[in-house]
Amino acid sequence: MKWSTRQDWAARPAERIMHVNPTRGCVIHWVGGGEQENDEHEDCLMAVNDIQRYHLQHPTEPYVDIAYNLIVCVHGYVIEGRSTQKRPQVRGGATGNMNGSTLAVLALWGAGDRHPPDILLRTLGEAVGWLREHASAGDQITAHRDHMSTTCPGDQLYASLNLIAAYAAGEPPKPDPKPKPDPKPGKVPPDWMGPWPYPADHYFAPPPASGYRTPSRVHNGKTDKQAYDLLQRVRRTLRWRGWSLVAASGYYNGPPPPQDPCGYGFSEEICKFQREVMGTSGDGYLGPKTWDAIRRTPVKP
Ligand SMILES: [Zn+2]
Ligand SMILES: [Zn+2]
Repeated sequence: MKWSTRQDWAARPAERIMHVNPTRGCVIHWVGGGEQENDEHEDCLMAVNDIQRYHLQHPTEPYVDIAYNLIVCVHGYVIEGRSTQKRPQVRGGATGNMNGSTLAVLALWGAGDRHPPDILLRTLGEAVGWLREHASAGDQITAHRDHMSTTCPGDQLYASLNLIAAYAAGEPPKPDPKPKPDPKPGKVPPDWMGPWPYPADHYFAPPPASGYRTPSRVHNGKTDKQAYDLLQRVRRTLRWRGWSLVAASGYYNGPPPPQDPCGYGFSEEICKFQREVMGTSGDGYLGPKTWDAIRRTPVKP
């Protein structure tokens, strides 16, 4: 099991530590809201730090620490919350009147994220299994919505409780023999991207070979936080369409550009899209036309 400690996410000390007897078991939570899946684990740690700050400064709820006992993410990390490896059995604060008999496990997952990947479910299971072993948590796995009126942890995680239970019991289920269904032909992706955000003559492209300056109308997302965020939205939209492999770390992700702009990294995916969906020869540059096509063209049969 991979751990991130409280030190890793620069936790403030708990204001109070209460013990608990979690006889019932563990309750699964999500962050909710939009997209919570992070590409970089460092962003997960920042998100956990934010959640603790939000809880400690909460205007009405008297939180004494981050509300959750453990947090898990798509990178397969179990992140210490109220519970730590040295101090597992601490009262949680996220499940109302169940806090006296359960422990709370948070998935860094939200409504804007698509199908929870197996690694997230497995890590949730590992976290629950660990709490059973080290914090005397009972066998139940329930969801926040089982106990109060909330959508938490979302329909997809809720539907996966059995799988999480199997992982918690150390019985990894066999991989699903059926591939996940593609989005229905004719469906347009949810609009994660919005309108083209730059002037009409700007575009995303790899930076030129070293020694040349990137013209200011060329964006690449490697160093620019806004461009990076936008490209994450493009990536999400492409993934929704069934393109599974898009470089996460920016437009350019690979060795110095070869002659064929479609030969590497993110631009390769863009090129494929241009060829297969837009019917052009494809240059791998992401400008307003390609942007709109990615955003608006229905999925082909
Ligand atoms: Zn919840
Ligand atoms: Zn992570």
